[in-house]
Amino acid sequence: MKSHAQVAVIGGGVVGCSVLYHLTKAGWRDVVLIERDELTSGSTWHAAGGMHTINLDPNVAKLQQYTINLYKEIEELSGQSCGVHITGGIMLAGTKERLDWLKLVRGRGRYLGMQTEFVSVDEAARLFPIMDKRYFVGALYDPIEGHGDPSGVTHAYAKAARVQGAEIYRFTRVTDLKPRPEGGWEVITDQGSLVAEHVVNAGGLWAREVGRMVGLELPILAMEHQYLITEEIPEVAASEKEMLHAIDFEGEIYMRQEGKGMLMGTYERAGVPWSERTTPWNFSHELLPPDLDRIAPSLEVGFKHYPAIERAGIKKVINGPFTFAPDGNPLVGPVRGLRNFWVACGVMAGFSQGGGVGLTLSSWMVHGDPGSDVWAMDVARFGDWATVAYTNAKVRENYSRRFRIRFPNEELPAARPLRTTPAYDALAGERAVFGVSYGLEHALWFAPEGTEPVEEVTFRRSNAHEPVAAECAVVRNGVGLMEIATYARYEVTGPGAEAWISHLLANRTPEQGRLVLSPMLNPAGKLIGDFTVAKLGAERFYIFGSGIAEDYHMRWFEAHLPETGVAIRPLRAELLGFSIAGPRSRALLQCLVREDVSNKAFPFLSFREMDVGMIPAKVGRITFTGDLGYEIWVGVDYHRALYALLREAGADLGIRLFGARALNSLRLEKGFGSWAREYRPIYGPYEAGLGRFVDLKKNDFIGRDAAAREKQDGPQRRLVTFVVDVADADAIGDEPVWRDGKVVGWITSGGYAHYVGRSVALGYVPAPLAGERDDFEVEILGDRRRAQLAPQPLLDPQGLRMRS
Ligand SMILES: Cc1cc2nc3c(=O)[nH]c(=O)nc-3n(C[C@H](O)[C@H](O)[C@H](O)COP(=O)(O)OP(=O)(O)OC[C@H]3O[C@@H](n4cnc5c(N)ncnc54)[C@H](O)[C@@H]3O)c2cc1C
Repeated sequence: MKSHAQVAVIGGGVVGCSVLYHLTKAGWRDVVLIERDELTSGSTWHAAGGMHTINLDPNVAKLQQYTINLYKEIEELSGQSCGVHITGGIMLAGTKERLDWLKLVRGRGRYLGMQTEFVSVDEAARLFPIMDKRYFVGALYDPIEGHGDPSGVTHAYAKAARVQGAEIYRFTRVTDLKPRPEGGWEVITDQGSLVAEHVVNAGGLWAREVGRMVGLELPILAMEHQYLITEEIPEVAASEKEMLHAIDFEGEIYMRQEGKGMLMGTYERAGVPWSERTTPWNFSHELLPPDLDRIAPSLEVGFKHYPAIERAGIKKVINGPFTFAPDGNPLVGPVRGLRNFWVACGVMAGFSQGGGVGLTLSSWMVHGDPGSDVWAMDVARFGDWATVAYTNAKVRENYSRRFRIRFPNEELPAARPLRTTPAYDALAGERAVFGVSYGLEHALWFAPEGTEPVEEVTFRRSNAHEPVAAECAVVRNGVGLMEIATYARYEVTGPGAEAWISHLLANRTPEQGRLVLSPMLNPAGKLIGDFTVAKLGAERFYIFGSGIAEDYHMRWFEAHLPETGVAIRPLRAELLGFSIAGPRSRALLQCLVREDVSNKAFPFLSFREMDVGMIPAKVGRITFTGDLGYEIWVGVDYHRALYALLREAGADLGIRLFGARALNSLRLEKGFGSWAREYRPIYGPYEAGLGRFVDLKKNDFIGRDAAAREKQDGPQRRLVTFVVDVADADAIGDEPVWRDGKVVGWITSGGYAHYVGRSVALGYVPAPLAGERDDFEVEILGDRRRAQLAPQPLLDPQGLRMRS
């Protein structure tokens, strides 16, 4: 074994081998992989090897497409066959809702260049002759699906990596990891130690154990998974072409040809976790006892829908474990607080995703940037609240729902409520319908008196439509009250605070008592955050941002913190708040504070400490509604008192609660973008319409040169607002934008803008088209709906309401 390497990848499953290969491909040759046993001896060896491009997150879907197209390359480099059969695949819909869902999937794939097509049930039966047509209403055909040989794929990655200089140590178990004071890691194995500058945890079934070596509890759990292989099926044996891959959502089963029979696997509802706390080190090339009773309900449907499978009989049943993160997507990237420690685990579809994971992680390590928008896979999307028990509940839920429809407005019930604020019970008492964001319960909308706070799940407008309209009207005409705990808040202190913020963020820092909107850019000049910064003292600042990105942003903040002079801490558990918004919000605030909050004395973007009633608070004159409004932040122990005070004092002004759905509607008609939708690391600030918040004249800041180039060259694409001519379904995000029969862009978010009475969608189009108005179409649930580009926000384009 070498004594020193640039990278030590732990784990020789399909994922670790892909990471190793991609590191060599990116030019790092001094890289090693350490495997406890033989390569493939975790989940990899007994996988069914199926691969497909479908994923509800388009960015992950694109990486899946990359993976499948990669196999040729590694076969050529390694001389090792991957055993790939691209048969094409068919997704069978048994209900109208499922057909809607497939339309949504198809639309999402379209702007990424994925060519799927709908086929009739007759055509589906011609392509997949063992199905019984009576149970289906339609099908989506995907030409890029198939299966590979799990061992062949893994060894092809490994050999291709070796060809390019990597070393692989088999039968060597990493037993401990120790950070070295001068940087890097001491990697201790049962065959000796080596020093590695970087460590990658690709431990698969043992990723939790490897994480624990460095004090990390990764949100991962393995589930048992079964598939069966049938005896020979005459229809299959007689077919000239290999059977397609098929997914039957109603049966929760997937199928492909195996020999002259079929392989059929299930994601059963009564899924069972495996090794809930720790994975035994001596588990290797083993299978678990089959349990056909558990999958009997799925088999019953399978046998009914595919009688030839029932007639053939079962030759073999495989039951093996593999790991999932709580939302079913991989965990990839650098880990906050651990230098040069990277993860590539929780990969539940190694043969569809392994290549994309390897590409992403290697780009991140070698170039400091993942190279594409990988938020859906970023390990930072889970915070410390994703505990072992949380993960257990969510992974079970996710497994049991793998082939079930997730409606766009559906909030899943497992592991809730977990994080709540002191106002939770009071809001529940007002019939709040709650959603969950970063583990936190927050009100989506409020059901009218006498109705149940339950939202019907649908692809179209739900029973929330009218109540949300009423909430929007209150904000625009009177005063609305909203809890704002879903925003992240940070305190930055110290003599170096101002200079540090100025170096990190693109806008100038605010004056004392003022707020400034400021994007954060990476060195390539792309958006990695959008914040509001407040100054309350020469050495005291507050930063407000997106709650879901708290760990993501803290990882960046901490990685850029100087050794002395600046401290930053998240105030998630210390500072909570309410927003009051609407033309009567000033009257409400004024009756609760001694200070003059007139427009002159407390203008737009002011931020000050003041007592609200008896409560010490920080008050900012800003709201995301685009109206006159304030954000009032208080200590957690004052939160209930503040709520009671605002309700009581606002009663005469007609105050009413509003939730996240109304806020979304209000910001859409103002054309305000939001984090993880309009603002993501694939967009530059000028593309996203945030150019006015980039101060190129101030001192050097991260991403300045790239931003200056973007400004000089002009943005490639632009964020625009569309008014869409819809029926009963609004855009929600990820729909393709059409013009002249071609897909020219995509939607980032959408919904009904109640106050202006229009269906609105925000999205990106190539810059030359941003000046056009007509002839656009937005594809919603398979229909191309006429859309008009609005050259300015639909409501109050001069921003007079906010400044009034
Ligand atoms: C029954 C079944 C069917 C499946 N079907 C499909 C399918 O059709 N398509 C698909 O894409 N996916 C499928 N999968 C999932 C697929 O198997 C996984 O996505 C994939 O194998 C994950 O690979 P990995 O490299 O992350 O993990 P693993 O394969 O578990 O590899 C981790 C490796 O790390 C090693 N390791 C761990 N800790 C250490 C240590 N401390 N020191 C040294 N080495 C260590 C282990 O020995 C192991 O070899 C299936 C899984 C099962 C169980």
